[in-house]
Amino acid sequence: LFISFEGIDGSGKSTQARLLADLLRDQGRDVVATREPGGAPGAEAIRRLLVEGDPARWSAETEILLFNAARRDHLERTIRPALERGAVVVSDRFADSTRVYQGVARASLRPLVDRLHDLVIGVEPDLTFVIDMDARAALARGLARRSGEDRFEELGLGFQESLRAGFLALAREYPDRVQIIDGARAPDDIAQDVAGRVAAHLA
Ligand code: C5P
Repeated sequence: LFISFEGIDGSGKSTQARLLADLLRDQGRDVVATREPGGAPGAEAIRRLLVEGDPARWSAETEILLFNAARRDHLERTIRPALERGAVVVSDRFADSTRVYQGVARASLRPLVDRLHDLVIGVEPDLTFVIDMDARAALARGLARRSGEDRFEELGLGFQESLRAGFLALAREYPDRVQIIDGARAPDDIAQDVAGRVAAHLA
């Protein structure tokens, strides 16, 4: 079973990915908790190329290539081996992030994103949770948490709002896979909601 968490910066998706992985482990399951960009040594090296340095370092197209290179490595080294031995994979972000960040919000390159995905990735999670939140509240949280280490973080409210709309549109595009989770609740309530949906999927 392959589960991904998506959402705007500061939405609480990383917390929810961790809480779900902990819960499934407590139930005795083999769980691989991972993240993007990153999730394997090579992919983490590409992550550093992406998130550090001059904001204008890469063109939008080059950025898409780097995200896909990182994802391919993550898939080969971490996700596929885990799924093959029957583990549950819980990933903090996957291809939907590229569909929204590079496909809609930062650049309108969704056709390129889709073609490249088909060519070099070709797999989707079984289940994707979008932790949905008001952009202003999420932005305040996200900036409070990580100041100064990430070249993407200075992007403002309008950008966060376009991301949110992009994730909501993905839920309409992939209704069988992508589920919207109200992220404005207490973390434990959200975790319970997510756990119930995963249990329904496993049943
Ligand atoms: O989720 P996380 O904070 O680890 O993501 C690292 C940074 O990469 C974030 O600032 C996020 O906005 C950015 N990102 C991106 N495009 C993606 C995935 C992440 O710009 N496809």
